Amino acid sequence: MLDPLKIRRDFPILERQVYGRPLVYFDNAATTQKPRQVIEAISDYYQTYNSNIHRGVHYLSQQATQAHENARARIRKFLNARESHEIIFTRGTTEAINLIAASFGKAFIRPGDVIMVSELEHHSNIVPWQLLCEDRGAELRVIPIDDQGEILMDVYRELLDERVKLVAVTHVSNALGTVVPVEEIIRLAHLNGSPVLVDGAQAVAHFPVDVQAMDADFYCFSGHKIFGPMGIGVLYGKTDWLEKMPPYQGGGEMISEVSFERTTYNELPFKFEAGTPSVSDTIGLDAALAYLEQTGLEEVRAYEHQLLMHLLMRLSEISFIRILGHPRRQSGVVSFLPGDIHPYDMGTILDKLGFALRTGNHCAQPLMNHFGIQGTIRASLAFYNTVEEIDRLAEAIRRTEIMFR
Ligand code: PLP
Repeated sequence: MLDPLKIRRDFPILERQVYGRPLVYFDNAATTQKPRQVIEAISDYYQTYNSNIHRGVHYLSQQATQAHENARARIRKFLNARESHEIIFTRGTTEAINLIAASFGKAFIRPGDVIMVSELEHHSNIVPWQLLCEDRGAELRVIPIDDQGEILMDVYRELLDERVKLVAVTHVSNALGTVVPVEEIIRLAHLNGSPVLVDGAQAVAHFPVDVQAMDADFYCFSGHKIFGPMGIGVLYGKTDWLEKMPPYQGGGEMISEVSFERTTYNELPFKFEAGTPSVSDTIGLDAALAYLEQTGLEEVRAYEHQLLMHLLMRLSEISFIRILGHPRRQSGVVSFLPGDIHPYDMGTILDKLGFALRTGNHCAQPLMNHFGIQGTIRASLAFYNTVEEIDRLAEAIRRTEIMFR
């Protein structure tokens, strides 16, 4: 069984106080905290073997290249991708989606084609497709959800037709915590001949992901939401698709031979990795995944499920709290509305009491529109949170309400 107190000792920031009170960090969907092991791996890189990679014969360059490629190998294993060259480094989920929109879009999207997303999506899995649709004369089609926060699978089936050239869905909703049945979505899309991109930003830190088992064509996530550094992300793509797609950006590293007449491109994954990558961050991400491997993602899932149940119970005991959505499968994200108190006002008071929560539309305005609201308060969990912190939050929400009255 996972021991959160032991884990907490690895996260220096969790020891700090804000406004003279112990920090309670419930904003893990926005970004997660970093264990000492990640911070030390980055520091070690800069202190002992900082060097540019792939291009140098000297010792430091080889050491840095090795560490960078080790990270790719670990990510392959982490996602259970078939090949390391199917792992492409990006700046984050947002850049990974933009890469697909630009490159896949250029190769495969024609006027009249359809890109399909769901009503649950984060703006970064909406806007790149809107830009692409505008550019190519294509159409964005939206799979609706119900008030529980579930994708309407019957409607999805009906919306799939021969014009659908790509389906892009989130694995876990960052606002409601819905775990989307991506396996079924992919199966149906493939029957229709449509590839699927899965936005795994809110999934990978919370349960094991197997891209081959789910048969995703593309899968992406951000390092900073999985206890790794900011500025690094991952795009997984099936070899067949990546081979057929043109480069995303031009520059060093992504080429094979360059002349003014003609340039040929490097092999995968380098074709999609122009310029110097953020080597310190791939090394930090490697350390984060090593940490998670050691902890065990099944243990993380089981522990976070207990936390989630406790959070839902505590919130439902407070009469003026309305929880948004009740998905069948939920990850550790809960959005709620505090009666007639504005979420921002309650969030501000809770902040002064030491609680880091998020208020607002969570970069999911169409989802907020579905519920006819501007925003919510969101508590999002990670494996270092505790039952005691949840109890303290519930107590603080009650106290805040009394203050407003
Ligand atoms: N997709 C989802 C579901 C998210 O929650 C987020 C960030 O909150 C993103 C995409 C964008 O991630 P990033 O800003 O790290 O690129």
